[in-house]
Amino acid sequence: MQNASQEYIAATLLHEIAHGILTYEKIDGSSAQHNEMFKKYRTEVAAGLKEMFPGIKDYADVLAYEGLDGTIWGSALKTVFPTSWNAMVVIMEAYRNGSKGTKCSK
Ligand SMILES: [Zn+2]
Repeated sequence: MQNASQEYIAATLLHEIAHGILTYEKIDGSSAQHNEMFKKYRTEVAAGLKEMFPGIKDYADVLAYEGLDGTIWGSALKTVFPTSWNAMVVIMEAYRNGSKGTKCSK
């Protein structure tokens, strides 16, 4: 996370907040929470990222997928649209390693 872009860090925080909400909603287990997160909070995470980083545009939707690739839908996406999935992985990695997005100043 040290080299990660601010966008990636924000996406991670929103993901963890969603975990907190789902725990509060008594949905237990990482896998169950990720499936629920995909359905209920993925678009919210993307909208939050777009609000914080207007220049992020459609990449917000990609970052909102981070951590959800093991869900039913993430697995289906990988299987049915591998080219799209691989493109998403490249974008996620670029935000993760800071080669894309806004870097922290120190
Ligand atoms: Zn998670």
